[in-house]
Amino acid sequence: MNGAMFKRKQPLFDGYGDQSLHLRKRRLRDRSHRGIQHERLTENCGDQRACEGQAKRRTHDLTDTTGMSSWADTQNSVKTVLEHLNSKQAISDLFIDDSVNRKFLSFRRDITGECGIEDKQHSWAVIEKQDELIMYGPYYPNYDNGEHSEDAVVKQTQELLDTGGACEDWEVYVFSMNSPCLARNTKPCMLNLVHKAQEWWSVYGVKTHIGYMRCWGFKGIKENLFKDISYGQVECINQSVDYESYIKAAERSPDLNPLCEAVFSVAQHLLRSGRESVILATAMEKQEMKSYFKSMSTHFECKGENERKLLTEEVGTLVEAAGVLLSGKSESYEEYLERERAFTRGYTFSSQVCDAAKDEMRLIFQKRWRELVQDKYAEVVRERLTDDFNQCTVQLFIKDILKFIGVYLKIGKLQFEDAEAV
Ligand SMILES: [Zn+2]
Repeated sequence: MNGAMFKRKQPLFDGYGDQSLHLRKRRLRDRSHRGIQHERLTENCGDQRACEGQAKRRTHDLTDTTGMSSWADTQNSVKTVLEHLNSKQAISDLFIDDSVNRKFLSFRRDITGECGIEDKQHSWAVIEKQDELIMYGPYYPNYDNGEHSEDAVVKQTQELLDTGGACEDWEVYVFSMNSPCLARNTKPCMLNLVHKAQEWWSVYGVKTHIGYMRCWGFKGIKENLFKDISYGQVECINQSVDYESYIKAAERSPDLNPLCEAVFSVAQHLLRSGRESVILATAMEKQEMKSYFKSMSTHFECKGENERKLLTEEVGTLVEAAGVLLSGKSESYEEYLERERAFTRGYTFSSQVCDAAKDEMRLIFQKRWRELVQDKYAEVVRERLTDDFNQCTVQLFIKDILKFIGVYLKIGKLQFEDAEAV
């Protein structure tokens, strides 16, 4: 931000514990960065009649947003999103306008320059005035008391607008790492922010921009749509030509609760697309892998003490060496099983271990490895489905609200230069 400088820093309100709270004010020497739209100087808000006239015009701009309230009904929204996914229409991110994107990037450079890069959920905001920027945050969620990071942003923005003499040439920029949530029981952040943007526009004539880096959608406690997709389900879906045959197969299998048709179709579509390859090395830590082999030594408990000790040590060595199976390369389920077969074939056991014990170890190792790959495979499928679902949720939500709101709210994903996308 050329020409900007710190005016002062001061601690902010106390409501959010020991979170990092900063209010940064920057006096702008050069207004050129504000873009053409800011060159339109607003009327003097001290003139009561002018203000009333502006408020009237703004009220006229406020369209009926009751259509948005359907998003407060999670069940209904989930159904809509699944229908959209099943319509096989493309899912794509909706990016925020270029000029607004540039502002966000510039603010973010300032924030990360001062506070460091943060990957976990956080929010910050900037109020841009004619000749000054007020930056506040980053704020973090406090899930113990149900507070999301956007709550702090809303509270602080409200306070600054109420006490700072807000008028039409102010603009609010709200950043949230994950797109604001839709799933919280009371005041989901997305709906809360949209309502606040509406209020700030009608009361002060202030426009709001909301930018995020990742789609969150319905993630959270309500988001368990795909939780029943185990490896058994995946196999059953893959072997079924349609929902009817799937239901028949699932009913024959005591371990499977049949999925509803919409979830079945979405899962089948993903599995047929071939996008579900498992990347075990990134999906799992070595430590987690070891936990699958923990119980291997219990198979040798009936052996004599010396042999048991030898075999337990051998299991440890084998599992340690099996770390090589966690390659970062994306491979299919079958390829992961083949990788294990090649590994155990080529593995040299200690010469003290008898052939029968070697065979037994190979068999148990193979069984555990298969369980592990199946669990991870199902996990990756669930994650992919959840990501697609939430990306689609955010896309549909934004499309919906843009139908109702245009003039005072912009919302979308931020786009980064490669070097900055961290
Ligand atoms: Zn939230």
